[in-house]
Amino acid sequence: VSESPSAALLSVGDEILLGQIADTNAAHIADQLWRRGWPVRQQRAVGDRLEDITAAVAELARGHRVLVLTGGLGPTADDLTRQALAAVAGVELVEDETALAQVRARFAAMGRPMSERNRVQGRMPAGAAVIENPVGTAPGIDLELDACRVFALPGVPGEMRRLLRDHVLPAVGPGPLGEVAVKELHLWGLGESAVGERLGDLMARGRQPEVGTRAQEGLITVRILAWSESREAAAALAAADEAVVRQRLADFLVAADGISLPQAVVDLLRREGLSLALAESCTGGLVGRRLTEVPGASEVLREGFIVYSNEAKRRRLAIPAELLEAHGAVSEPVARALAANVRRVAEADCGIGITGIAGPGGGTAEKPVGLVHVAVASPAGTVHRECRFALDREGNRVRAAMTALGLLWRLVRYGPERALP
Ligand code: ATP
Ligand code: MG
Repeated sequence: VSESPSAALLSVGDEILLGQIADTNAAHIADQLWRRGWPVRQQRAVGDRLEDITAAVAELARGHRVLVLTGGLGPTADDLTRQALAAVAGVELVEDETALAQVRARFAAMGRPMSERNRVQGRMPAGAAVIENPVGTAPGIDLELDACRVFALPGVPGEMRRLLRDHVLPAVGPGPLGEVAVKELHLWGLGESAVGERLGDLMARGRQPEVGTRAQEGLITVRILAWSESREAAAALAAADEAVVRQRLADFLVAADGISLPQAVVDLLRREGLSLALAESCTGGLVGRRLTEVPGASEVLREGFIVYSNEAKRRRLAIPAELLEAHGAVSEPVARALAANVRRVAEADCGIGITGIAGPGGGTAEKPVGLVHVAVASPAGTVHRECRFALDREGNRVRAAMTALGLLWRLVRYGPERALP
């Protein structure tokens, strides 16, 4: 057992090793454990092989105080987690009345007969406790291997989350870090290295609170993680760093914690009483999609056009043929005309125009793949930005959409003179 108690995660399943699914279970469990003061020091994945699962469980249980497994609890031959746990514990698998009753009850609730095969899900390593699964057939397993508390949860993400929340987190209690406070600040308009420079000393290794950055879809998130004996003390530590971060990066802060950029845009437009219309070419409606994911978007979003062809740009939004011929569809004048015209056609306060080359084909020396022109028009004025992304088709499209939203946010917030970061 290592000196400072820690947690480890083990994901079981060939589909993870083969790269067919991403290990979102481990991401969720790690986040939840950290937030409760449990440092997660290792995450591992193994396939559906009894020796591999057994060896990994034995090793991780020796080095950590908490071990959470997911997957391999189903009724099929490749579901080997319960056998592996029994092997490491040196006990038999025994039919457990409570577990079997739960499997039976689940099938009854679904109105289906329980097959003989599902009986195996009622078998537990002798001495283990059953974790009731109200949302699926496989009960979880809770057992102790020397100084390590081991939990085996179903692989299905919805079932895993439920058993984690209702059983595992209460069972392990607050971790050795004590109470943890997490604060996230989302920035748009500044690169990750520039953010890092401004944060400087705050990001020193070994400092508490821990301050880190991550880049996602063109936004930079600053994450502050503080811990202390009491919730109030942890919150105070995080709040002190938050104040410094806010002060150093005030101009770029668009949202905090669970708020996304689209949500921040919807909130801002609603507060200002402004409506919006979209003219999207290379993003094919992505801005509209992201905005309409936000509840309440209908209060600000009027309509969106996917004007993919030149013909559509001309007919739907009256983009002059001469403009398209003189500059090409992917150009500043066309982006500006899209934003201005969609605003007028939809009778909206603000308009977004996006035109670009998403790739992988269609680029030229003069207009390479990743070139995107974004224009945003508001009652206060219009701004335009030429972007040169170097990502794949999807990446270029996402970045174009987020650029439009970021520019709109800044335009409404700071006005046309200060909108461009
Ligand atoms: P079941 O009773 O459904 O068979 P199980 O405990 O045997 O549950 P698995 O068969 O390993 O779980 O996984 C069931 C499904 O859950 C997988 O097909 C996969 O889609 C999803 N899943 C499993 N492990 C993970 C993981 N680590 N991250 C995300 N999804 C996962
Ligand atoms: Mg399975």
